[in-house]
Amino acid sequence: MVADSAYYDLLGIDEDASPEDVKKAYRNKARLHHPDKNPDDPLAHEKFQEIGQAYETLSDPDERAAYDRYGTSGPSRGGGPGDFDGPDLDDLFAHMFGGGGGGFDFGGGASASFDPFGGSSSSRKPTRGKDTDVRYEISLEEAFKGKKVVMNLSRDRACGVCAGVGGRKGAKKEECGRCKGKGSIIRDRHIAPGLVGKAKVVCDECDGEGERFSERAKCKRCKGAKVTKEKKRVEFEIDPGTEDGERIALRGEGDETPGIPPGDVIFHIHHRPHALFRTLPRSDLSIPLSISLSEALLGMNRLMFVHLDGRGVRIETKRGERIIKHGDELVIKGEGMPVRGTKGRGNLRIRFGVEMPGLSWASRTDPGSMVVELPKPPVDLTPTPEVVVTRFLSPLR
Ligand SMILES: [Zn+2]
Ligand SMILES: [Zn+2]
Repeated sequence: MVADSAYYDLLGIDEDASPEDVKKAYRNKARLHHPDKNPDDPLAHEKFQEIGQAYETLSDPDERAAYDRYGTSGPSRGGGPGDFDGPDLDDLFAHMFGGGGGGFDFGGGASASFDPFGGSSSSRKPTRGKDTDVRYEISLEEAFKGKKVVMNLSRDRACGVCAGVGGRKGAKKEECGRCKGKGSIIRDRHIAPGLVGKAKVVCDECDGEGERFSERAKCKRCKGAKVTKEKKRVEFEIDPGTEDGERIALRGEGDETPGIPPGDVIFHIHHRPHALFRTLPRSDLSIPLSISLSEALLGMNRLMFVHLDGRGVRIETKRGERIIKHGDELVIKGEGMPVRGTKGRGNLRIRFGVEMPGLSWASRTDPGSMVVELPKPPVDLTPTPEVVVTRFLSPLR
C-alpha cells in the first residue's frame, strides 16, 4: 500500500510496476497528452507537466520510495504538486524520443518546443479573454457510449451598437471622478488577523483607464459595459471512454473583452456515481455480483447483469472448472470501458459474493445423512434485454 497513488494513476500503472513499465507508460502517456498533439486543449500543458512530474518521481528509485511512503508531501520533495520546478520537460521528452521532435511526428511538423511553464502572468496585460469553466456531469452509461452535447451558451460579446467602445457615437471620455484619472485607488486590505495594510487596486469605476464616459454619453445598448450578452448554440462530442476529470475546450466561445480575442469555454467532465459499476485505472470497470452457494461450487449459466450499453451479460462457467469463494475477483476480458481513441476496451472485474443458504435449509436436511441437496440457483435477470451476450471468466492477471 502506498500513501498516495496519484502518480501511478496518472501513468496508468500498478504500484508494483517495474522501472521498464514506468518508462513505457510514460512514453505512451506523454505521447498522448503532448500539447502539440492537443492544440484544442488549453490545459494540455498542465496535464503533460503532471505526467512528467509523475515520471520524474517514479523513475528515480529513491524518489519513488519516498513518494510511496509519504506521497507528494514527502520530505525529499519540495512543496505540493503546484510548484514543480524540475528539469525541463521538453528536454526530458526529446531525450526519450530521440531528440528535438525528430523522433516523433506530432502531425503539425513544426518544432516540438513549447513553454511548459508559460500561461497566465498577472503582471502582463491579457492577450485573450478569460476562460469560462463549466462543470458538466455525465452518467457512466454516457461515458461508455459517448454523447453529443448541444447547449445554449450565454456569453459576452463586444456591443454591436458602440463596437465595444462603451460610449455614444462621437462622445468623449471624461476624467474618472473616483480615481482622479490615476486608474487606481488605495484600499484597506486585510493582511493577517489584526493587521490591515494599504493596497493599490484597479479603479472599478473606470476599469483602470483613468477616464470614462459620463452617464449621458454612455452607449444606450450596453450602458457603457462595452459588451452585451449573446446566446449561442454550441455542439460538441463526448467520446466513448471519456474519463472523469477530462476537459473539453471550445476555442473562442468564452466571454469577449473588446480588443482581444475571446477566451475559451472549458467543460470539466465528471462521471456521476453509478449504482453498480465503478471505474478503475486502465479503463477497467468493477462490479459486485452475488451468486448462490450452488453456483459457487458447481458453476453457473445465468443472465446476471445489464451492461452500460444495455446488453445483457450471461456468465457461463462449467461444472468442475473452478470453485468461487466469497470475495474472489475474476475478470471478463474486454468488457471494461472503451479506451479513448482506440477500438480496445478495458476489463471488467467481478467481485463475487457467495450467498449462504439460511437456517431453514439446514434444518430441512436429514441429520444422519452426509448427502445434502444444495439450494436451487437463482433465475435469470428479468426483463431480458434485446441483446444478450455470453461471457466467460478469467483469473485476475
Ligand atoms: Zn477611475
Ligand atoms: Zn455599446
